[in-house]
Amino acid sequence: MKVFVQAPTGKPLMPTTPRRARLWLKAKRAWVVCREPFTIQLRFETSAYTQPVTIGVDTGSQTVGLAATANREVVFQAEMRLRSDISGKLTQRRQYRRTRRSRKTRYRGPRWTNRRRKAGWLAPSLRAKAEATVKAVRFLASLLPIRQINVEIGSFDTQKMQNPEVCGVSYQQGQLQGYLVREYLLAKWQRQCAYCQTSGVPLQVEHLIPRSRGGSDRASNLVIACDACNKQKGSSTAEEFGYAEIQAQARVPLKDAAHVSSIKTAVVTSLIQQFGSEHVAVTYGYETRYQRIQVLNLPKSHSNDAISIACEKGELVKAGTSVYQIRCLARGNYQLFNGKHSEHKVWAPKKVHGWKLYERIEVKGQIGYIGGRRVKGAFVINDVLSGKTLIVVTPHKLRRLSRPVQGWMITRFPISQLSGKEGGASSPS
Ligand SMILES: [Zn+2]
Repeated sequence: MKVFVQAPTGKPLMPTTPRRARLWLKAKRAWVVCREPFTIQLRFETSAYTQPVTIGVDTGSQTVGLAATANREVVFQAEMRLRSDISGKLTQRRQYRRTRRSRKTRYRGPRWTNRRRKAGWLAPSLRAKAEATVKAVRFLASLLPIRQINVEIGSFDTQKMQNPEVCGVSYQQGQLQGYLVREYLLAKWQRQCAYCQTSGVPLQVEHLIPRSRGGSDRASNLVIACDACNKQKGSSTAEEFGYAEIQAQARVPLKDAAHVSSIKTAVVTSLIQQFGSEHVAVTYGYETRYQRIQVLNLPKSHSNDAISIACEKGELVKAGTSVYQIRCLARGNYQLFNGKHSEHKVWAPKKVHGWKLYERIEVKGQIGYIGGRRVKGAFVINDVLSGKTLIVVTPHKLRRLSRPVQGWMITRFPISQLSGKEGGASSPS
């Protein structure tokens, strides 16, 4: 674990050890800015000597991986869960407005000319996700002296594969190249076995016409197959195996290969605007995967992917000891009136029995957050990681750990407590 340090001016310095931070705090040479992640601000001037810190961002639609490396060491790693309630809330607001408009009111002329969408417009649910990702990078930049930001934008780079079907990049030519071809084939065959359409199992690269019978390593001779189909097919061709149509299908190249989702484009554009294009670089999933499996030997998780993105090619880094779990939250309830005709004033207090929503608490040895409150005393406590209900208790059993600030909730977990990977669309590694 590292303690983040700020200069008296607020400028981020290199992180330090808990021991040194403790000594500074005891001697009143520093004060605590933030408990989670633990950040102190010095009361004395030091040489603002910093080493380059690189951030890796693994963008996603549900979970974002974040990591920072400096001096061949992981100094920060986090997984951020994005909000998924935006579109539902907007639907609700739209319905309230609909009922309000159908009431008997004076004539209002149509006002559609001011509803034109600007270039680069994103749907609100996607915009929230892109902005949360950028906000997390800005937050990291307030803790660490950032030199470089790496963002993964797609699974493979089509520019590196010129005409893969015809010219062919041998899928065994170099380790990294193999990962490139694999990602290309996974995208082409929708991440499922070409023969039996199974997905969610480990998939292998398979030759339609086997190597032993003169088949090439071109992408047009390769498919993705599960272990069972691959073994069963053995040294027969796809046609002999009873799948002549797949042989024809394999010759058709993948059209929109360099598919970059709108969230990723928005994240990269915004980061370049805020940090300058010389500090932002893009990477591809096949490089990440190669780095994570072959160089760092880490299990698949969003934060481990982010570490691999932050690293140079082939760079070995010392792993961190804890992962921060960040959950993005709504900042408040702004509803003033409800009811069919907006006739009821919302009287519900912000606090129930002195507790707010999303406060992080400890109860009966478990750590969770408040997901629901009843005046009569049934408090719903949810798990920080999964968001599922842990327990329903009376509020006087709760012990407060922290309140949500800045629109998110941050919890630190030792790596040993987290195993495997939860949620989100992913592929078998
Ligand atoms: Zn199969």
